[in-house]
Order: sequence, then C-alpha cells, then structure tokens
Amino acid sequence: MFEKTISELASDLQNKVISSVELTQAYLDRIQQLDGIYNSYITVTPELALQQAKLADGRIAAGNAEILTGIPLAQKDIFCTNGVKTSCGSKMLNNFIAPYDATVIHKFHQAGAVMLGKTNMDEFAMGSSNETSFYGAVKNPWNAETVPGGSSGGSAAAVAARLAPAATGTDTGGSIRQPAAFCNLTGLKPTYGRVSRYGMIAFASSLDQAGPMTRTAKDAAILLNTMAGFDEKDSTCANKAVPDYTAELNKNLAGLKIGLPKEYFEKGMDAEIAKSIEEALDVYKKAGAEIIEVSLPNSSLSVPAYYVVAPAECSSNLSRFDGVRFGYRCENPVDLEDLYKRSRGEAFGEEVKRRIMIGTYALSSGFYDAYYIKAQKIRQLISQDFKEAFEKVDVIMGPTTPSTAFKIGEKSNDPITMYLSDIYTIAVNLAGLPGMSIPAGLANNMPVGLQIIGNYFDESRLLNIAHQFQTLTDWHTKSPERLG
Ligand code: GLN
Repeated sequence: MFEKTISELASDLQNKVISSVELTQAYLDRIQQLDGIYNSYITVTPELALQQAKLADGRIAAGNAEILTGIPLAQKDIFCTNGVKTSCGSKMLNNFIAPYDATVIHKFHQAGAVMLGKTNMDEFAMGSSNETSFYGAVKNPWNAETVPGGSSGGSAAAVAARLAPAATGTDTGGSIRQPAAFCNLTGLKPTYGRVSRYGMIAFASSLDQAGPMTRTAKDAAILLNTMAGFDEKDSTCANKAVPDYTAELNKNLAGLKIGLPKEYFEKGMDAEIAKSIEEALDVYKKAGAEIIEVSLPNSSLSVPAYYVVAPAECSSNLSRFDGVRFGYRCENPVDLEDLYKRSRGEAFGEEVKRRIMIGTYALSSGFYDAYYIKAQKIRQLISQDFKEAFEKVDVIMGPTTPSTAFKIGEKSNDPITMYLSDIYTIAVNLAGLPGMSIPAGLANNMPVGLQIIGNYFDESRLLNIAHQFQTLTDWHTKSPERLG
C-alpha cells in the first residue's frame, strides 16, 4: 500500500478498497515507527488527520468526493496552518501557532485532503541540506549518512521513506527540485505567480514559489490542479486560468525541441551524472524529440546574483520577527533595543543571521547601487538568455544538481560550496520560469535528477514530458533498499 501513488490510492478510496481513516492510520503508524530515523516531520497531527479522514470518508460515501478527498499529505512547515504549530524550521517560531491557513492549505482542505503533519526544513528555507533546521538534520532514506537536500528536505525524505504519499515544498533557488533529485522524487516548481504565496512564510518574495513533491508526474499534475490559481490575497499571483494539468500527460513527444545549454555541459559536470543525463536524452530522442544546443551565457552569474537578491529580500522580510509580534522573546529585556537584539540574536540560527547581514549590507546606502542594482541587472540578463533560448526550443534540459546527495556535515562549514550546489536551479527562480526534477538514474546507488525547464506557464508541457519519460523508464519506481 505504501508504494501506491495518489492516483492509485484515489481509486482505492472511491472503490471502497480502503477507507481514508484506515489509510491515514496506516501512515500515522508508519511515521511513528520510522520517523525516529529520518526526522522528516517537525509536527505530526494525528487527531486532526483522523478527523479530516472521517469527514473525507463521509464525502466519499455521499458521492461528492474529488480526487484528493481522503488522501493523506505532508505539508512543509513553511505554510501557516490554522491552530497548528508553524515553525518554519526556526527557534524563532517554535511557539507559533498560526491563526489562519495559507491559501495552499485552504485549497487542500477544500479538496478534502488529509494533513498528516508538518515537515522539517532548513530554517526559513535557507539551505540546501536541511542541516540549518532548529529541529535537527533530516536523513536521506537512500543513505542515512547523506542529506536529503534542502530546504524542503523533510518533505522529500517523508515521501521517499513512504511516510506520506506526497508532500508540498517551496522553491526559492531550488528547494523543491534539489531535494527531489537527491531523494528520487518528481518535484515541480511552477512559474512565479502560478501558486498563491499567501500564508507561506516569506523568504525572498520575488523568488518564492510553492509546488508539489511526488513520486510521479501524474501525481504532481493532480496536486498542482489543486494548488494553482489566482488569489486576491497575493498581489503577485497570476490571474490566469488553470488548465487541467492531467489532460495532456499522454501527448506524443514527436517533434519536441529540447535545448541543451552548452554552458552546463562544458565544465566540471560529474561523469556519473552526465551519463544518466545522456541516457535520459536518448530516451527522449527515441520518443521523437530533437536535441538542439542553446546558450545561457550568463548562467555562471546566477549564484552570485541570487546571493545578493535573496538575502536583500530576506533581510527585509525577516525584520517582522522582532520579539514583539511573533514567536520568540528573550527573557527579562532591559529596554526595547535589548529586546530586539537578544530576541533575534537568540532565536535565529547562523545561516539566517549570515543572510540578514549580507542583505542589510547590500541594501544600505552607498552599497545599494554596487550590489543590489547590479544583481537586478544580471537578473534581467539571465531572463533574457532564457527568452532567446525559448525562441529556438520548447524546453531546456540538464542535470538538477552537480552531484548526488552529499554527506551530512560535508559542506555545512563552507557556505560557498553549499551555495554552489544550486548552480543549475537558481537561474530558473531568477527568471521566474517553471522547472521540474524527475528521477533519471542512479549513480553509486544514489538518485540522479533530470531538470526540465519550461517557458512561462508551460507546466502542462513539463508534466507531459515528465510523464512520458515515466512511461518509458522505471527510475521513478525505485525506492531505497532498506526501507522498513
Ligand atoms: N539553497 C538555496 C538557498 O539556500 C535555495 C533555498 C530555497 O529554494 N528555499 O537559498
């Protein structure tokens, strides 16, 4: 049962092979049994889950169920959940019970989905390894000595360890795609503005986007159908009709034009990763796709530009955590200044403080032009590169990550090396494009992700291309060996 996808579980629920209460209880038991190893959940919500499951069973019996009715899901702890602790992986919000639901959560509730709990993550989504969480590192189910990726590492580990059929993630610079690649999942970062950010704790508002982390492209399409759409509570949310993302999954790929950025393949790609990517491209060629070289000349500037823009936005977004309005407050402050300083000093972790300092510096008068404005100009150039590439091709493909999952502790003392692990994903956020990572092979028994980048609002095409790959290969069905 734990190997079933959402679409399979949905038909079991409709056909009364299993009830949502039984299914939910089975997942809750499994979480209790195994999550001591992985640490993928910060909060498990058994009572709420069973209550929602009961309601879902009622809806199924009454014949007005939707596809997600009764399906258990794990939600990244960055989404506000009414009455449930919402920590964002930080000591700052360790005592924060959200007073409302994020739009994404609200939509899942309306669809009748069940929430198993809130998943572990890098503190305020800053990280690539899930090691910056106040709640401790998450272990990769493929090898517990390695990281699951970040910042949506808890969601990735939960789905890979079969502690949830699917989960949500958020992606500011790669946090859905990179952990999906490290844990053999299908992860989709939609176009900026496709999914509402209301109630999703802000890291870098011009880059943040929520999306599904699933085992298959079909499941990603099912989740995106519920998540996507206009929301008047988020002024950057696109007022654009949502297609049925499951409708075009079976389209033939003959004539598809796939762009390969020559810069990605020129220098330093890990040989094992390169081999898996080449094999994946062969699958597409056999399916009738044409491979065309494209150039993204400014791609090497994406990491430096991101590490000005994202910290700048985060330094502003995180100013709200002042010890007064939300979360942690230091003990016995002597005056207001002391309250601010010690509350922030005691409750933010090292990486968050580093970003706040970089961002504050980059935005300060005298440095603003040299750093922030310059980074924004580079951002424009990066978007322009993609625009030109998409005049020639339908999608762009390459690896999701420069290596497979690395060892816990291997990069945590070297921020620059850690930042470079997002080299292939970050440009997509800077340009606001949709991107996906799908399982494309194993290197030394660890998963390799293929990244598929699309033009704006072309999620249907990405899902179609991913689904076709999953009908022609079985990488996505592989699960870690020693799973309990
Ligand atoms: N790893 C990147 C960072 O640390 C991206 C994080 C994210 O996408 N949330 O900022």
